[in-house]
Amino acid sequence: MRLPIYLDYNATTPVDKRVLEAMLPWFSEQFGNAASRTHLYGWTAEEAVAKARKQVASLIHCQSKEIVFTSGATESNNLAIKGLFEKYYPQKKHIVTVQTEHTATLDACQHLEKWGAAVTYLLPQPDGIVSAQQVADALRPDTLLVSVMLANNEIGVLLPLQQIARLAHQKGVFVHTDATQAVGKIAVDVAELDVDLLSFSAHKMYGPKGVGALYVRAGVGMMPQMDGGGHERGRRSGTLNVPGIVGLGEACAVAQRELQTEYKNLESLRNYLENSILAQIAETFVNGNQNVRLPHVTNICFEGLDGENLLLGLKDLAVSTGSACTSASVLPSHVLKALQLSDAQAHASLRFSLGRFTTLSEIEYAISHLLEVVEKTKNNQVGYVPNDFLQ
Ligand code: PMP
Repeated sequence: MRLPIYLDYNATTPVDKRVLEAMLPWFSEQFGNAASRTHLYGWTAEEAVAKARKQVASLIHCQSKEIVFTSGATESNNLAIKGLFEKYYPQKKHIVTVQTEHTATLDACQHLEKWGAAVTYLLPQPDGIVSAQQVADALRPDTLLVSVMLANNEIGVLLPLQQIARLAHQKGVFVHTDATQAVGKIAVDVAELDVDLLSFSAHKMYGPKGVGALYVRAGVGMMPQMDGGGHERGRRSGTLNVPGIVGLGEACAVAQRELQTEYKNLESLRNYLENSILAQIAETFVNGNQNVRLPHVTNICFEGLDGENLLLGLKDLAVSTGSACTSASVLPSHVLKALQLSDAQAHASLRFSLGRFTTLSEIEYAISHLLEVVEKTKNNQVGYVPNDFLQ
């Protein structure tokens, strides 16, 4: 068993060997520029990109031409939000989003506020869910866009995008969803969800880092945020990352074949881990709604413990507090704070995210390691007072 046990698949995933195999020829042997129209090197690369585009489109049930390749979900979110805003401002300038979104969405919105956007940051209910009604109530005559993630990266809770999109579209408002943590993990169908724009990233689904995609529904116009050679039908300039795109395509093909089996496996491993922790460690609870969520994530509060101390003790586990993107900061997670947790509860919470290569023996080891380290942390922690003692 490789230690530490990797239970941080929401931060990133290893590249699946099948994906790596598919990528390798596109570095040195087939190195052509997919935009070179005058020779075989270019045509071959272009064909590989076209195949990948089909694989990606097939997974989310859209047309190939609706896929724009990007450098990842951060760029996809920025392109969707800023690209739409630039096209429609000043006629429409209001954006509705949620406080528990990824910083790539929140910061893009904040940036646009400097340029005249009005943004409503909805507070979810304490279980992390934002109702379609909450979104509908926030719409104004000048609302341009609703941007709500499909699955939250920290707590795994799924948001009711289909209902949100229906109400938004009734008012002529565009809908963007950050589906980075959902694509490849649960069935995602853009027609069923009825969204106009959808972001995702290869490295969360066993593909390489630095490549992702934005689905743009046919007919939806936006201003490119990268000027240059007019690649990707003028929506995103820059020489295509052919090996990365081939990798994303293969990752989508593998996910499409294996999604259902993987879902069941991961859900049962996650439930085993979660139930064992809740049953065997006092003063623990799950953050966020436990019914509507991704199969492989659980975010657990170990009340009264200091998350940093706990993490230091958990030498054999690779897990995270809050999201990796903000783990350099000591501020409590903005997602857990939006769920009304106290700073102490937020700091005492750990996210466990399982993945394709997680085994039952790893989970068993993780549980016994946790039991031991939690016990030690409680005994060593100055100022730890069990709840029972206080009652
Ligand atoms: N959105 C969500 C929900 C994410 O989890 C992440 C990755 N932490 C991103 C966006 C950013 O993705 P990328 O790393 O591809 O830029």
